[in-house]
Amino acid sequence: MNWLHSAISRIEADYQRSADTHLIPLPLPGFASAGIDLYLKDESTHPTGSLKHRLARSLFLYSLCNGWIHEGSTVVESSSGSTAVSEAYFARLLGLPFIAVMPRSTSHEKIAQIAFYGGQCHLVDSASAVYDEARTLAQQTGGHYMDQFTYAERATDWRGNNNIAQSMFSQMARERFPVPRWVVVGAGTGGTSATIGRFVRYQRHTTQVCVADPEGSVFGDYHRTGDATLTGPGSRIEGIGRPRVEASFIRTLVDRMMTVSNTDSVAAMQLLSSLLGRKVGPSTGTNFVSMLNLACEMRQRGEQGSILSLLCDAGERYLGSYFDAAWVAQHIGDCAPAYARLQGQIQALD
Ligand SMILES: *Cc1c(COP(=O)(O)O)cnc(C)c1O
Repeated sequence: MNWLHSAISRIEADYQRSADTHLIPLPLPGFASAGIDLYLKDESTHPTGSLKHRLARSLFLYSLCNGWIHEGSTVVESSSGSTAVSEAYFARLLGLPFIAVMPRSTSHEKIAQIAFYGGQCHLVDSASAVYDEARTLAQQTGGHYMDQFTYAERATDWRGNNNIAQSMFSQMARERFPVPRWVVVGAGTGGTSATIGRFVRYQRHTTQVCVADPEGSVFGDYHRTGDATLTGPGSRIEGIGRPRVEASFIRTLVDRMMTVSNTDSVAAMQLLSSLLGRKVGPSTGTNFVSMLNLACEMRQRGEQGSILSLLCDAGERYLGSYFDAAWVAQHIGDCAPAYARLQGQIQALD
């Protein structure tokens, strides 16, 4: 019991030392003059650089309180990288060995960061091979498979308690449209969309939740059909879109799905990076595409209001991939036409 108490205390003390993340208004005068305000909650400023810092904390607390992690337990996770970085941080805080099972394509920057926190990286050939490998490694080491894709939605406190939804809504309090018309998020585990969807209903807000889903992901088809056995090729946008329907993605909490092409996502990542004067990651680009589409729809209908989304992580994690022209040409394609079209969406309103 002593170890458990001190482990929970260490996580709580770490939380006490942390600050909340900023809500950034986007400088888009063309939309603003039409009565449409866009905001991004900057989740890149967490100590481990992404929104997964919140999830990792919740998963550790959930597993500790469930009696699934003990002194000396090896913690194993299947991840596309960001969760593993954040979990490696918390494993080090608790003095636990950590193994991340990830696709070989995961960005080098994330792999280096996991190693920096003392975690071990176990790379597999495809995104769909991570689950079985992680389960096997946990069995072999007598450790615990964290399994974010199953537990993300239930490990997170959705009624309040400083979750991302409560924080966003309270930061909007003094804006001209404090209750957003839309909240746009991507789905990897689906934990964020579930937390925000539940919070909105619980608070009886009129806000709707839109998931921006990259091409290749099964979530879009699953949302339409309800068929949980669907599989797909998976996504090329790191952090979002899955090759199988994850238990943590709760379809009934999502009001709308928008499929976004890879070239649109990467072009939007570039455009948003130049608007903000700092680099954002590719999943933030996917979010931005959906925000612009929704903003254009609202303007066409003469609707006013605010649209919120997330800056999920910073572009510095992807210098060798999404910010490398040769890599993009090979893995994503020509993004110039998409860039021009997105820029037109913004400029046409100026
Ligand atoms: C995990 C992740 C998301 C999606 O969040 P979920 O809550 O897992 O659905 C978006 N962007 C990045 C960079 C991520 O790592």
